[in-house]
Amino acid sequence: MARLFVSDVHLDPAAPQATEQFLGFLRGEAAAAEALYILGDLFEAWVGDDDEEPDNERVCRALRELNAGGVACFALHGNRDFLLGPGFCERSGCRLLADPVITELDGERVLLAHGDALCTDDHPYQELRSIVRDPAWQRRFLSLPRSHRELLADEIRAGSRRHTARTVPTIMDVNPQAVSAAFRAARVRRMVHGHTHRPGVHELEVDGEPVQRIVLGAWYEQGSVLRYERGRYELRALPRS
Ligand code: MN
Repeated sequence: MARLFVSDVHLDPAAPQATEQFLGFLRGEAAAAEALYILGDLFEAWVGDDDEEPDNERVCRALRELNAGGVACFALHGNRDFLLGPGFCERSGCRLLADPVITELDGERVLLAHGDALCTDDHPYQELRSIVRDPAWQRRFLSLPRSHRELLADEIRAGSRRHTARTVPTIMDVNPQAVSAAFRAARVRRMVHGHTHRPGVHELEVDGEPVQRIVLGAWYEQGSVLRYERGRYELRALPRS
């Protein structure tokens, strides 16, 4: 049976087509899989587990049904939904994994990550990341009323859009040294991540050894899935009908 990997679905009530496509994916290909790994940014925004967005609730319920049907579902935090917590796990049946995490696929150790930590050339972003990933900051943020958190999240997103618009694209891609360091630290030959929205399979060399970096695409215009089955990896775009 297959294991599926997706990332950067960026579910957003303002983009209902992506939500419908993802729900269709959960009912279809995912329902026949052994496991589903969501490598971060499932949601465009998640300001706490008291989220009441109806579309988000539909997705949580669909994930829960998938889990109940015997498909193990795992999620990593992304830079948009880093506040997914125990309440999300309860609602969705997903298990949250650390970022990065090593999983074993038929005996091969594979590194899974969201990917934002590899974009070390983007200094303003890394600075923001270290602030919002601090548990003390998160506790303070989560203690605010939800309406206040939503306003702050809108501001952070607007700031992120301005930053993205004025930053050279290569700055926002992974840094090659950070990639090599991640391979070395994890002692793996393969990694899978998202975040950069640049789907592709990169054959590299680290310390003279061949390694592979698989990058999942975002679900803005079409879907993107990596399918692993019996030693084979297949990265596919899922056209939107
Ligand atoms: Mn991301």
